[in-house]
Formats: sequence, structure tokens, C-alpha cells
Amino acid sequence: MRIITSPAEMTAWAREQQSDGHSLALVPTMGYFHKGHLALMLMAADKVDKVVVSLFVNPIQFGPGEDLDQYPVDPARDEELARSQGVSVLFMPTREDMYPPGFQTVVSVPELSRHLCGADRPGHFNGVTTVVCKLLHIVRPDCAVFGEKDFQQLAVIRRMVADLNMDVEILAHPIVREPDGLAMSSRNSYLGSEERQQALCLSRSIAHARSLYATGVRDTTRLAEEVRDIIKKVTGAHIQYISFFNRTTLESVNQTDENTQMALAVTIGGRVRLIDNGRLVEAG
Ligand code: AMP
Repeated sequence: MRIITSPAEMTAWAREQQSDGHSLALVPTMGYFHKGHLALMLMAADKVDKVVVSLFVNPIQFGPGEDLDQYPVDPARDEELARSQGVSVLFMPTREDMYPPGFQTVVSVPELSRHLCGADRPGHFNGVTTVVCKLLHIVRPDCAVFGEKDFQQLAVIRRMVADLNMDVEILAHPIVREPDGLAMSSRNSYLGSEERQQALCLSRSIAHARSLYATGVRDTTRLAEEVRDIIKKVTGAHIQYISFFNRTTLESVNQTDENTQMALAVTIGGRVRLIDNGRLVEAG
């Protein structure tokens, strides 16, 4: 596995591979790998000849007062894990490489970005689309893999790729969870042991909404109330949003149907912001 830090070198490597007839996949990440990241890498490896994983903690997708400076890093461990998944290149550009002096372009998908996490984190998705657009241009992969853990991010990126006629296939991997249901996240490392238990209220809420849906409850005000009741009982858990929305438009709905997705953001211990989501009718 090669470690590349320079965008120009990354592009040169990718072009060389493609001229040798190899197909490429990109897996964009912010590092501190867990099994969710590794599953994305495996999905990519199944699809193409060479997998490029980018590891870049993208400063422009963090708002003031967010956890940019605390974001967990362990490049040596990440390197080992990426190698163990058969990754060809770990691309680790510096902030200066990605945003040199004078950088000013913003890629924005305003409608889809204003819902859900976008309402709590203004500017976040502009940061995401701008960096993903740059990464896709640097590598020009045949496909790129994203996790459904960040459901809105996936929708925003699919829109960007369609709107800008980008010649890349976007693949989605289902959420990878801990055995007790907690969605894997680099931010879970912020949780103390009691908070780790409290964090289970997110996946429990989704399971509860699903079981209500299965018994015929369709009214989202009622579903949201029931979920609020679960979370309110958990010490230290504070709801940022609970939403029931259309999977494609991300517009909230009053009555659920088979295209309804549920998502929620909850802070644990007043500091750790966790997100989770699920379809009310489980796929498959
Ligand atoms: P991150 O490093 O958190 O920015 O995540 C990089 C990619 O991994 C994104 O496409 C995420 O959606 C995906 N990802 C993160 N956690 C999970 C998970 N638990 N299951 C599936 N995909 C995930």
C-alpha cells in the first residue's frame, strides 16, 4: 500500500493505473477507522481493481465550536487497518494541500443541505460537497463508496454528482453497528462507559418507531412523541432533531409510508453529537 500526501502525485498515480486498464474506487474518510470504514473498503475492493482511501479531517465542514480540534486521529493504526483491507493507496493530504492560500470555491447543494443536520450545522454540507468534489476530481475514480450512516450526506453527494454530470458511480453501504445496536462512529471514542450506554437510546428509538409502524401507526407527530419519551428518560441525552422524511427529497412527512426514513441527532453528556437513521420498513 502506498501513502500519498500530494494531490498532484495522487492524480498522477490514478491516471497511470487507469491507463494500465485498472478500475479505481475512492472511499473518502476522516480516519480513526472502525469496522464501518473497513466495510466500505471491502465493498470497494469487491467492485474494482484498486481502492484509494482518502483520510482527511476536512476543516471546512466543521462549524465554530465543533470538535475539529478534538477529532480523534491515529494515522499509524489507520495505515495498518487500510493495509489489512488490501487498499492500494492511503491518500492523506494536508490542509494546506487541499486549501492553499487563495482557495475560495464552494460547491453547494442548497435544498437538500438545509434539512436535518444542515439545520443544526450551517455550512456543514457545503464543506462536505466541496471536499468530495475535490477528491473526486483528484482521483477520478470509477466509483466512490459512502455509508448510509450519513444518510443526508449520501443524498447530497448523489445530487451533486447528477447535477454536475460527474462520471462516477456512487455506492452506498448499510450502517455497520456494534452488537448492541450502536451505530459505529469515530465519535463514539468520546463516550465514557456510562455515556456509551446512554448512546443506545438512538438505535432503540429507531427500533421503537419501527415496531409502532409495524402495528399500523402512521402519524409522525405520534411517532416523534414516542421517540422523545424514550430519549427524555435517558440522563444526559438531549435531542437535536427527530425527523421522519421522504428518502429522496428529505422533506418531512406527516404520514409515513414505505419510503419514509427516520433520522435523529442526539447529544450525549452535553458534548458528543451522535446521529443515526433507519427506514421504517426494513429493506429486503
Ligand atoms: P467519516 O470518517 O466518519 O467521515 O466516515 C467516512 C465514511 O464512512 C462515510 O461515508 C460514512 O458514512 C461512512 N461510515 C461511518 N460510520 C459508518 C457506519 N457505522 N456504517 C457504515 N458507514 C459508515
